[in-house]
Amino acid sequence: MYDIIIIGAGPAGLTAAIYARRASKSVLVLEASAYGGQIINTPDIENYPVAAHISGFDFATKVYNQAVELGAEFKFEKATGIEDGGEVKTVRTPRGEYSAKAVIIATGSENRKLGAENEDKLVGRGVSYCATCDGAFFRNKDVAVVGGGNTALEDALYLSDIAKTVYLIHRRGSFRGDAATAEKLKEKDNVRFVFNSVVKKLNADARLRSVEVENKQGETSELEVSGLFVAVGRIPETENFEALAETDSSGYFASGENCKTKTPGIFAAGDARAKEVRQLVTATADGAVAATEAIKYITNR
Ligand code: NAP
Repeated sequence: MYDIIIIGAGPAGLTAAIYARRASKSVLVLEASAYGGQIINTPDIENYPVAAHISGFDFATKVYNQAVELGAEFKFEKATGIEDGGEVKTVRTPRGEYSAKAVIIATGSENRKLGAENEDKLVGRGVSYCATCDGAFFRNKDVAVVGGGNTALEDALYLSDIAKTVYLIHRRGSFRGDAATAEKLKEKDNVRFVFNSVVKKLNADARLRSVEVENKQGETSELEVSGLFVAVGRIPETENFEALAETDSSGYFASGENCKTKTPGIFAAGDARAKEVRQLVTATADGAVAATEAIKYITNR
């Protein structure tokens, strides 16, 4: 029996582990894949206080090591559900069950797919959802990035130093992402903006060969690219927990700034929680808040 089980080892979950351990609570962190969450895909963090210019992977490794050094226990197992027995919560994984007095759900989000023809078939054969993971395979090649948020802008910037040409395809005429990054992109000779356009179909032999793009007038054109980096947002990973932690109409945990869910002793933190600003700094802040609330809950119950 642990004091607190944290589901998810992204920035929110890792920060919650640090706060809980510093309050001498026993902590188990359950993580379905690797520690770090989506920040590991960011090549260069510039907007986190003090940590100017650190890669997302290095950032995550430092926070993970900090949590381990403080005594948090980690198991790399996917939590598939929580049973609320009041004072004892039981978290299920395919390997077994773990009990705790409180649970923090910090499951983050997964890649949203484009839904274009042949997209699924070509994952790993030209289609990628992670520019920093796969960009190096496209040195001096022509690639496209889809999306208009910060991820797409940062991916395009990163790829512009590797690829020959980077097409940035966005369904509207203005970006959702930061103007400062968009300005940097405009200064790149090898970046081409393809506005008001959507990717309809991917053409391939063994690997991706080209993408078919349709503009607002219904005209289609073909861009010859060997890489397509999809950066059209994320989908919150909440589905195993919706019975105990209510979600909003977009599927995010409908918890307020105190990270409380409708179930006493169960808290939601990080990108899977409904919020206005989804940034590294707000994810870590959530981790601190959720752990503090969980500690209060354990003390006062
Ligand atoms: P996002 O901000 O939700 O942007 C998604 C983009 O994809 C939007 O431009 C959207 O178009 C477009 N889109 C969505 N569905 C589409 C579809 N089916 N087909 C074509 N385009 C589609 O997602 P994100 O860029 O992954 O960023 C997620 C959060 O992380 C944001 O809050 C972002 O600021 C943050 N982030 C921060 C940093 C940083 O701080 N350095 C880095 C990366 C991400 P519309 O604009 O038309 O809706």
